[in-house]
Amino acid sequence: MQNTDRTYSVSKTDDEWRAELSPAEYQVLRQAGTERPYVGEYTDTKTEGVYSCRACGAELFTSDTKFDSHCGWPSFYSPLAGDRVEYIEDTTLGMKRVEVRCATCGSHLGHVFEGEGYGTPTDQRYCINSISLTLRPSDTD
Ligand SMILES: [Zn+2]
Repeated sequence: MQNTDRTYSVSKTDDEWRAELSPAEYQVLRQAGTERPYVGEYTDTKTEGVYSCRACGAELFTSDTKFDSHCGWPSFYSPLAGDRVEYIEDTTLGMKRVEVRCATCGSHLGHVFEGEGYGTPTDQRYCINSISLTLRPSDTD
């Protein structure tokens, strides 16, 4: 994973992350892996609530901006607030993509694409790994 020399408010050593996260979580969050499409637990979730970073708990997305992209991963058209995530240019795999990371702990979340014509208010698609998120359903009563 690219080192951005940033200081995060939640900062842990690699060994600490390894101890706290499952191997699958570690591989995506800390090594910028990608879970396989259509297998993530939140791919088609419609439950209302807030999605937090699975590594540090920072609130990142809400169900209000989640939409059906049919791409195989949970998709949002906007983060909860612009400063909750950070963007890093990613040129791995010979493509120019924009990586999305948690601005609180620097963990990898996914990528953001724009101009795909999904008809969302921002014309952006935050393509996020389910395993990078924890959904906290809102109270329904
Ligand atoms: Zn985080």
